[in-house]
Amino acid sequence: MKILPIEQNKQTSIFISSVEKKERVFLSSPHMTGNEMKYIHEAFETNWIAPIGPNVDKFEEELAAYVGTTGGAALSSGTAAIHLALRLLEIGSGDRVFCSSLTFVASANPILYTGAEPVFIDSEEETWNMSPIALRKAFAAADKEGHLPKAVIVVNLYGQSAKMDELMAICNEYNVPVIEDAAESLGSLYKGRKSGTIGEFGIYSFNGNKIITASSGGMLVANDLNALEKARFLGSQAKDPAPYYKHHEVGYNYRMSNVLAGIGRAQLEAIDDRVKARRKVYERYAEGFKDIPAIRFQPELEETYSNRWLSVFTLDPELTSLTPEIIKSALEAESIESRNVWNPLHQQELFKGTQFFAHGDGEAVSDNIFRHGLCLPSGSNMTVYQQMRVIEVVKGLFLQH
Ligand SMILES: *Cc1c(COP(=O)(O)O)cnc(C)c1O
Repeated sequence: MKILPIEQNKQTSIFISSVEKKERVFLSSPHMTGNEMKYIHEAFETNWIAPIGPNVDKFEEELAAYVGTTGGAALSSGTAAIHLALRLLEIGSGDRVFCSSLTFVASANPILYTGAEPVFIDSEEETWNMSPIALRKAFAAADKEGHLPKAVIVVNLYGQSAKMDELMAICNEYNVPVIEDAAESLGSLYKGRKSGTIGEFGIYSFNGNKIITASSGGMLVANDLNALEKARFLGSQAKDPAPYYKHHEVGYNYRMSNVLAGIGRAQLEAIDDRVKARRKVYERYAEGFKDIPAIRFQPELEETYSNRWLSVFTLDPELTSLTPEIIKSALEAESIESRNVWNPLHQQELFKGTQFFAHGDGEAVSDNIFRHGLCLPSGSNMTVYQQMRVIEVVKGLFLQH
């Protein structure tokens, strides 16, 4: 055993075993509450080992109550939730859907599932999310062509809410519904409202790396209960009510398992603690790097509250010769996982030939954030010591450069 002082301002110290010293630090690992097994046992004892059951119903109710929507539909993934939202808006071949460019590919893949054409919108600097200026340009161009989008998918990146008022005002002007991809922003707020509840539909993800997890899974939320009922119908093979097998439209096998919904329920009990813990992780990084002006963390817009799902910064190339790649390699050498920022979708081979609307002239804001950005380990179960290791490696690089 070796003693390492931490948080000197608190004059505390902790014992670090040599085992912990070598432990791998993950970007965002599952953080169990201990109550998960209780709900899983209930599912087993009642033999509800099925894609429906009491845990699914309760999880839908509890999540909707938490975010403040009328209801929710528990699904097999966040991607499935986006796909069903597009189906509910009757989007298909020949239609157009606007989507944030700086995001995970799962935000836009469902557009391709429907046969519609994605159009990508750049970010702005204050939230890193969809730029109202770029969105306005895209609408003006689409209007001129007489081909408006049938939906706009707005992503709330790394927990930070987009400028929803501005974006909603533009979409309302054109009477186009918004799907809020809040896969990364469960527990975040926009002007007092929960992220994911401002558009017509919101989606959450419970994948293993998200702020809470059901190992996998997703939720579609809305205030329109008929739409949610339709989502459950489409998500369970679109079986028409009939005494025999009858179908009139395409369905999917998208419902959440009752066992996994049990994990989700226990996780949801801890959401506010998880948000606080992730924000604390961010605060320690911000404190640790406060003397390095080249490091700029993702801003938190006024009147918003980010869950800080990941602590992400960009490097100012005018102030340092360090790059995200150099820092990522140095961290990896210490068995610390870090990741690049999402590679904008307008740059992907998959979406070659699609339209893109930039925020300003010159390099797109999303391209710039990608080129200079790095995501640090941010799990709510990270120890202070693990975080110290990260900070020391990064600080050490700045001393050498
Ligand atoms: C994780 C994620 C998704 C997809 O969620 P899954 O549950 O993994 O399908 C969609 N959008 C964003 C922005 C995500 O981070």
